[in-house]
Amino acid sequence: MSDELKIVVLIKQVPDTSSVAGVNPDGTVDRARAKRMINPFDKFALQKALELRAEHGGVIIAISMGPPPAIEVLFDAIEHGADKGFLLSDKRLAASDTLATAYALFKCIEYIKDVDIVFTGLQTTDGDTAQTGPQIAERLNYPQITYCEDLIVENGKVKASRIIDGGVQKLEAPMPILVTVANSATRLEHKQFANVYRSKELLRDEQAKKERIQLLDLDKINADPKKVGLVGSPTVVGKTWKIGEKGGSCRLFKGAAVSKEVETLVDCLSTEGRGIEEYVR
Ligand SMILES: Cc1cc2nc3c(=O)[nH]c(=O)nc-3n(C[C@H](O)[C@H](O)[C@H](O)COP(=O)(O)OP(=O)(O)OC[C@H]3O[C@@H](n4cnc5c(N)ncnc54)[C@H](O)[C@@H]3O)c2cc1C
Repeated sequence: MSDELKIVVLIKQVPDTSSVAGVNPDGTVDRARAKRMINPFDKFALQKALELRAEHGGVIIAISMGPPPAIEVLFDAIEHGADKGFLLSDKRLAASDTLATAYALFKCIEYIKDVDIVFTGLQTTDGDTAQTGPQIAERLNYPQITYCEDLIVENGKVKASRIIDGGVQKLEAPMPILVTVANSATRLEHKQFANVYRSKELLRDEQAKKERIQLLDLDKINADPKKVGLVGSPTVVGKTWKIGEKGGSCRLFKGAAVSKEVETLVDCLSTEGRGIEEYVR
């Protein structure tokens, strides 16, 4: 293993939550009408990769699995300093659950070969399961450090601290390794990110960005189509619904001593057969 690192960062395109129109009649998320954006948690993963490359040298490869428009998040990653991108896009991946998604991303990483570190975000803002990273690590048979707050690489090992209830845990493990990055790991101010922006020419040049991105499908990465999509997804979504459709009302408890207001609130909530909104005046 050379000193230079081959770093993979997994980046998902998610619906912009400020624009999600809701759910379709069949209960699926209405993705078509939603604007799309990079999963905010994945920016922290990319930032960690940039910091490691700055220290050790090497290459950062961003991977996204999604429909063709997901290429936009790879453009984002390249603009922010990733060296190349791979977009795994294949109709047979539609309706994949986390098990199937993790399998497909694992096959991508296997295809890329000789990776030292895989960074993922902690979770996504849409699926929100935080399962994908750990499942990929299991598939790859890599050690994994989740909720990673900070890390350094020394003599082929990752020394990391991670957040646990009531404290911080220090761990070390050999590479190759998968790390899910906590969003408290780095202060991601726009300026800080902007420091690693590539040249303005590249930012403007769509073609130059495209040349750094390779498109993959299931055949290219030698993935079994039976392990992805609906057929490869054991998860069954029983029911989904949109919350808060009725609209809400709110009563502000204010003015008296806190203990008095808590009493009033408890009275309101425990009054049998009546919702709190009935107390709104
Ligand atoms: C039955 C079922 C059907 C589904 N059908 C669809 C569908 O048709 N279309 C659809 O878009 N979603 C679908 N989903 C959602 C899909 O399973 C999840 O988006 C996916 O498994 C990732 O899970 P998550 O969003 O919870 O990610 P998490 O596990 O919370 O993500 C953790 C990290 O993993 C990485 N990661 C996760 N997903 C990707 C990705 N795609 N590319 C790159 N990196 C990634 C990121 O670094 C992320 O920060 C379906 C889910 C279920 C249960």
